[in-house]
Amino acid sequence: MTAQPPVHGDVAILVPAAGMGVRMGPGSPKALRPLAGEPLLVHAVRHLRAAPSTGLIVVAAPAGAVADVEAMLAPVVDAGCALLVVAGGETRQESVAAALSAVPASFDLVLVHDAARALAPPELVESVAAALRAGSAAVVPALPVVDTIKQVGTDGEIVATVDREPLRAVQTPQGFRRSVLEAAHAAATLAHTDDAGLVERAGTRVDTVPGDDRAFKITRPFDLLVAEALLAST
Ligand code: C5P
Repeated sequence: MTAQPPVHGDVAILVPAAGMGVRMGPGSPKALRPLAGEPLLVHAVRHLRAAPSTGLIVVAAPAGAVADVEAMLAPVVDAGCALLVVAGGETRQESVAAALSAVPASFDLVLVHDAARALAPPELVESVAAALRAGSAAVVPALPVVDTIKQVGTDGEIVATVDREPLRAVQTPQGFRRSVLEAAHAAATLAHTDDAGLVERAGTRVDTVPGDDRAFKITRPFDLLVAEALLAST
């Protein structure tokens, strides 16, 4: 693979943000919940925008909140980065597909990033984009698994211990050549929890770059406390 120089603004980032986030407890959609006084989605978009490669951010918002999300995010982006807000779908996969269909043909590199990973640093966007420019068709940030992983039976009893050495926990942003992501979505018959899963299923090699602890997924109330501490420390 040949390293290519970065091109400012050549990356479109899709942000599925239409989920209700039931694991966070009752209330507004998860991406709109406050973190240190601002919605999670605002933090996410601000971090994505801070990467020089970002030229377009497409947010899939809850269907009833498109105009509100547009108004909320307009001050977060600037003239160097376009913003589109579309209505999300019933599933994450449908929300990504809706955002992907709004990307102008001029963008060849497309990243997908969960709003829930609101503190993923701009450096992670750059390292995923760099891997694509160097020739990867698809790339995900990955971290070694630190816990021992067990498989359990129907009564919660341990039935096996999994060798964790080859296991990785993957994060977003996940990056793709646009044609690869489009083909994977067009061929999808099963629901996948991430886009790399769709692309693997379509038979395309997915590479990894080192993940980043700051790109953790804010899923439960405990994660909000961690995120607030992290923001306060920077
Ligand atoms: O539910 P989960 O945590 O896997 O959601 C991951 C991301 O997908 C979240 O950012 C959520 O807002 C988004 N999502 C979506 N549309 C849905 C369901 C989830 O955009 N229908």
